[in-house]
Amino acid sequence: MFKKRFKTPGEFKAAFKTRRRKVCRFCEEKVRVIGFYNDRVLRRFVNERGKIVARRVSGNCAFHQRRLTTAIKRARHLAIMPFTSEYYR
Ligand SMILES: [Zn+2]
Repeated sequence: MFKKRFKTPGEFKAAFKTRRRKVCRFCEEKVRVIGFYNDRVLRRFVNERGKIVARRVSGNCAFHQRRLTTAIKRARHLAIMPFTSEYYR
């Protein structure tokens, strides 16, 4: 994790304080409905293994993370999105 980049706890704390606050991208664009058919948007929120990226990582708000999760799961069911990558075991 990113903790390893810092030598002392104080250094880590200072960086944490000055770090830019993550903003929900859907809130920024005033998106209310996240479509499951729009896989270009959904793919930004899954990692290379096909896992949904956590809220603390992506910076999404709770509302949009819930909507996003549902959209990704629907897309997976319709084979628009992968459940997992074939390259990993
Ligand atoms: Zn949001």
